[in-house]
Amino acid sequence: MQAKKRFGQNFLTDRKLLEDLVSLIKVSDQDKFLEIGPGKGDLTESLINLCDSYFGVEVDKDLLVFLRNKFPENKKAFIDGDILKLHPSKIYSSNKFRVVGNIPYNISSPILEWCEKHYAKIYDIHFMLQKEFALRCAGSERTSSYGRLSVICNYLYEVTILKEVSKDFFNPAPKVDSLFVRFSPKKKEVDHKELRNLKQVTRALFNKKRKKISNSLEDVIQKENIKKLDLNFNLRPDELSLDEYLQISSLVKNNG
Ligand code: SAH
Repeated sequence: MQAKKRFGQNFLTDRKLLEDLVSLIKVSDQDKFLEIGPGKGDLTESLINLCDSYFGVEVDKDLLVFLRNKFPENKKAFIDGDILKLHPSKIYSSNKFRVVGNIPYNISSPILEWCEKHYAKIYDIHFMLQKEFALRCAGSERTSSYGRLSVICNYLYEVTILKEVSKDFFNPAPKVDSLFVRFSPKKKEVDHKELRNLKQVTRALFNKKRKKISNSLEDVIQKENIKKLDLNFNLRPDELSLDEYLQISSLVKNNG
C-alpha cells in the first residue's frame, strides 16, 4: 500500500524505536487510549494489549480495512473518520483518556486545538511532532523558539520533550526531523475566558515581535490600566514569562 501524502502518512516500523516510545508513554493496564492515525498499526501493536481499552481514529479507508484485518479481535476499536470531527463521547463517555499518535504534521495545530477543546477529558498527550513545531510548543522565554504557541502550550500543559527521532526511522522519510513530546495538562479544566484573553494578548504582542511591549500594550488594555502592571515596559514579547502574560491578560479591554 502506497503512503498517501495528502494524509501526511509517514509510518514508523522500527520495533526497537516503537518499544522505546511505548516505554516513554509508561502504559498501565488501567489506561484508556485514543490513537490518532494508527496507520498500519505498528505503534498500535505495541500498545493495544498493554492497556485497558483502545480506540484509534483513522481517516484513510484503505488503512481501516488493513487495521481491522490486522486486529480481528479489536475490529470495533478502529473508528472511521477525521479526528478533528470526532467527539470524545463517541468513544469514552465519562472516563478520561490518554491521547497518542504519530500524527500528520500538516494538521498539528488543529489537532492541538482539538485537544484544547476536549481538555477536561484528556489525561495526557504523547505526540510525534515536527522538530521545529515541538520546540515552539516547549519553548521558554528568551529562547529562539519562544512565541505565541509556547505561551499557550505552557499555560495548558507541562510540555516535555522525550526523544529525538531521526527522519530515517520513517517510511517514507519526511524532509524534517521529529521529536516525541508529552503534554501533561496543568489544570483540571480550561478557564475559557482567561485563555481567550491570553490568546488576544499574545497575538497582539507577538505581532510586533521586535518592538518593546510599551508599543503594543495599548492595543489590548486601557491606557489607565497600563500603569497597574508590574512589568518592565522595555522588554520585547519574547522576553515575557507566562505569568507576565497572565498579568496583562487579566486587564484586557472589555474584560468582564
Ligand atoms: N501512527 C502510524 C501512522 C502515522 S502517519 C505510524 O506511526 O506508523 C499519520 C496517520 O494519520 C496516517 O495513518 C493518516 O492516514 C492518518 N490521518 C491523517 N489525517 C487524519 C485525520 N484528520 N484524522 C485521523 N487520521 C488521520
